[in-house]
Amino acid sequence: MFQPRNLFSITTVAVICLLTACTSPQEEGPEAVSEQEEIHNEDETSALNENDMNAHPEEDANEDFLTLPKENLQKGDKSDSVIDLQKTLIEIGYDIDSTGEYDHKTIWAITDFQLQNDDLYVTGIYDAQTRAGLENTIIEESNVEPGSALTYKENQTLDEDTIELGNPYEVLALVNKNHALPADYEPEDLVVPNVRFPFEEDVPKKQMRKVAAEALEELFAAGDEAGIDLFAQSGYRSYDRQDSIFASNVSAYGEEEANKFSAKPGESEHQSGLSMDVTSPEINYQIGSDFEGTDESDWLKENAAEFGFIIRFPEGKEEITKYQYEPWHIRYVGITAAKEIMEQGITLEEYLED
Ligand SMILES: [Zn+2]
Repeated sequence: MFQPRNLFSITTVAVICLLTACTSPQEEGPEAVSEQEEIHNEDETSALNENDMNAHPEEDANEDFLTLPKENLQKGDKSDSVIDLQKTLIEIGYDIDSTGEYDHKTIWAITDFQLQNDDLYVTGIYDAQTRAGLENTIIEESNVEPGSALTYKENQTLDEDTIELGNPYEVLALVNKNHALPADYEPEDLVVPNVRFPFEEDVPKKQMRKVAAEALEELFAAGDEAGIDLFAQSGYRSYDRQDSIFASNVSAYGEEEANKFSAKPGESEHQSGLSMDVTSPEINYQIGSDFEGTDESDWLKENAAEFGFIIRFPEGKEEITKYQYEPWHIRYVGITAAKEIMEQGITLEEYLED
């Protein structure tokens, strides 16, 4: 639990800074970055120093500033702002290092923090809402128990060509034929997006994780305005469901053949709750290559990124993704990554490479 050394001083100074930020006429954006807000922990060091000839006041002054970056930060980012964020996370009790890189431990800390705050999306990405949540934690001494929502885990090597992800909740998680989700991973924030489905039953495959579900609603609403007739067909798929699908494909086609079109349990992005297969009336709500060339498919390629989605298995990248071109399979990665991936015509694998 977070116990500030001197709550009154933190509260007073932070509130002053927050008020200043609120009345600042500048828009939030890249140019506002240098104007970072500082939460000054004025403890008793200055009074003590007057009586202590061995003290180093300038060092104390450096240690006593907590700064929360204003810009979004995510996996792989390297900057002084990342150090500032890491210092704040350490201050509220997270056992991470201030490396200056938005690394696996930092993603874990942010994810764990988001899981403990009902009004935050769980993404592993540091954004304006997460920043506000961290500010509240510092100012109001709200309860954070580091690691209580998500135990820290490194990625584990399962076998020579499979790594199991330590943090399945981050929206930039790479899930593919070499990177598996844990067998026991069932996202706790699954909801049914309020979009059209070509069937009535209330089945698990209607679900997506909250952040992706709400983005899908916005994507479909924009499609409606553009006269596009998108339908959602298949979202979340549990580990057990993948297991039985893969087993039945193996018994029908043999393992080698089944591997070409079907994912082993844990290796389907559908278990992440971040993917949806979409379709349209023009192709009788089927999922398959007929989707290519429809108005819906063309519109998705142009507009999905604006809502944080990518076409996960693009044409011409089969060697990298190990999947055939799937114009119907969209995956939520957040707007920043989605725009870069779609504008550059690359895959998630390429985006996440150093
Ligand atoms: Zn799919």
